[in-house]
Amino acid sequence: MLDYCMQEAREIRDDMVRWRRDFHQHPELMHQEHRTSEAIASVLGEIGLEVWSGLAGTGVISLVEGKKTGKTVGLRADIDALPIQEATGLPFASKNRGIMHACGHDVHMAILLGAAKILRRFQETLNGCVKLIFQPAEEDGSGAKAMIKEGVLKDPPVDVILATHVWPGLEVGQVGLLPDVAFASSDTIQMEYRGPGGHGAHPEATRDPILAAAHLVVATQSVISRNVNPLESAVVSFGIIQGGTAHNIIPDSVMLKGTVRCLDSEVRRELKERIQVLSEKIAQAFGVEHNFQYLQGVPVLRNSPSVNRWIAGLFERMLSKEKVSLQRPSMGSEDFAYYLNKSPGAIFRLGCAPPGESGRYFLHTDCFTVDEETMVYGAALMAAAAMEYLAEQPKMN
Ligand SMILES: [Zn+2]
Ligand SMILES: [Zn+2]
Repeated sequence: MLDYCMQEAREIRDDMVRWRRDFHQHPELMHQEHRTSEAIASVLGEIGLEVWSGLAGTGVISLVEGKKTGKTVGLRADIDALPIQEATGLPFASKNRGIMHACGHDVHMAILLGAAKILRRFQETLNGCVKLIFQPAEEDGSGAKAMIKEGVLKDPPVDVILATHVWPGLEVGQVGLLPDVAFASSDTIQMEYRGPGGHGAHPEATRDPILAAAHLVVATQSVISRNVNPLESAVVSFGIIQGGTAHNIIPDSVMLKGTVRCLDSEVRRELKERIQVLSEKIAQAFGVEHNFQYLQGVPVLRNSPSVNRWIAGLFERMLSKEKVSLQRPSMGSEDFAYYLNKSPGAIFRLGCAPPGESGRYFLHTDCFTVDEETMVYGAALMAAAAMEYLAEQPKMN
């Protein structure tokens, strides 16, 4: 069966390349993936599958139902692109100015369509069904939540869910399994300090929000070094500080925006509490007013240990032990975490770098490129996992 999946994936390589290049040429930003959504639905229709569109705006789902009833495997791909002007010079580069599939979601869609085509061929042998989930808006972490709200994990209920992300740090043909705690939670601090400002020469007549903001930026790093257990991981980074109009005017207000990440829900609570206290107390100390918002984003992503062990064994049998490695967790975030809060499952990395070029291109850059052979592996692994799960329940110990 495993060999069949690789063989079938090789046979449909040209289809996947065609679909991927079409997605790549017509990238769309989150919540606007209308053409993309139509293209997905049209390919699924050609494959002979029933399609439900318009979920969470532009999401699409489809079912590959086996002859016998049984469990349901969810396979998820994300479909949105990024606001980046492509500089790859590829003949099939983006035609949409300033928008690019720089996170490989074009490849994820083609892989899931490829897996759908393989599964459709083996439909008769499935004891249960495969739910294909094409999810919009991964990049701001809102798509998964919205799809779950639409009920994609119900009717039929999903028993296990898998996803993959192309990874340029690994060569094509390699797979990176992620630890049980794989991706960080991602929250946003959005705050403002307000003066009154005044002449830069006469600070005594003002309440300086820039000075307060500077102290806050420094003080928040003490939360990482003094409050968080040194054996835990956490990050606070400010990406925006805005305020002021001239070198000699103390402004009335300063706005700050930053990201807070960690790998543990208890640490997450502590970070929020400590940063809020610092913000308040610094405002008080410097006599400025403050407005503080802490926006909770994507939670920590936890793979199910039993599913991780199962796919590790499966992928090693398909690709060989040497091709499957265990990766470190990432302080990046991934909204697949929302599905994993509701259902057992796992996300794994799929090597996409041309041989000998791992780490040369990176995600979210204007020259990000993949070796298209990665789709053969991606579709084969996804299809094989679904088939194995539905053929006989793998031993999850
Ligand atoms: Zn991304
Ligand atoms: Zn991505």
